[in-house]
Amino acid sequence: MGSITLKQVTKSFGKVNVIKPIDLEIKDGEFIVFVGPSGCGKSTLLRMIAGLEDTTSGTIEIDGQDATDTPPAKRGLAMVFQSYALYPHMTVRNNIAFPLKQAKLSPEEIDKKIANAAKILNLDTYLDRKPGQLSGGQRQRVAIGRAIVRQPSAFLFDEPLSNLDASLRVNMRLEISELHKSLATTMVYVTHDQVEAMTMADRIAVFNAGIIEQVGTPLELYNKPVNQFVAGFIGSPK
Ligand code: ADP
Ligand code: MG
Repeated sequence: MGSITLKQVTKSFGKVNVIKPIDLEIKDGEFIVFVGPSGCGKSTLLRMIAGLEDTTSGTIEIDGQDATDTPPAKRGLAMVFQSYALYPHMTVRNNIAFPLKQAKLSPEEIDKKIANAAKILNLDTYLDRKPGQLSGGQRQRVAIGRAIVRQPSAFLFDEPLSNLDASLRVNMRLEISELHKSLATTMVYVTHDQVEAMTMADRIAVFNAGIIEQVGTPLELYNKPVNQFVAGFIGSPK
């Protein structure tokens, strides 16, 4: 569970083509990072995988099934945003419970899942606070907790740490990497930060103006960049 295959996927907004035909196989359980400069189409492609944007052409398969026209809630994926997207008037507990209540789980099941997520993410002490009473890092943990309880087949992260200060960012990187190790669930992680990409990824896809220039492990990209753009972006001496 958790493979995602893109076949000749494109996206245009009106007449503007922002994603050129992209083919990509994301393997079950891998941590893949989409990296590239601002405006190159990373978020758009992630949102297409999530089903939040439709595809102009091409197909998206999830676990081998065509999901191109499947609504977001039925894709079995969970997205974590830079802006956290928490409900300000609800407590942490209720923010996490919200998708579970919508899915009509029993109160007992909901409590169990929240307790589990709280343990993984150290949320216990602030379950009854509201988002406004939390730090940025705590809010991002809640947003991740809300994703975890849904037991998605893949997590989709869009620059989840860019609102955090530098030292917290380093901690949260480690936490997300640890989470990936313990859950062994596919993670697709968008960032414009090369260091984040190099330190977190099993594989990196380097984006440039609507195409993927190269996909490979951090070492492959560093040692054998296919062109000047990849070399320049990843920082190898070629
Ligand atoms: P990135 O996440 O890599 O910074 P985006 O995927 O957000 O880039 O954007 C890629 C391109 O698509 C940009 O030129 C952006 O202006 C354009 N774009 C994104 N969303 C829309 C939209 N809803 N309508 C029109 N253009 C959009
Ligand atoms: Mg973006």
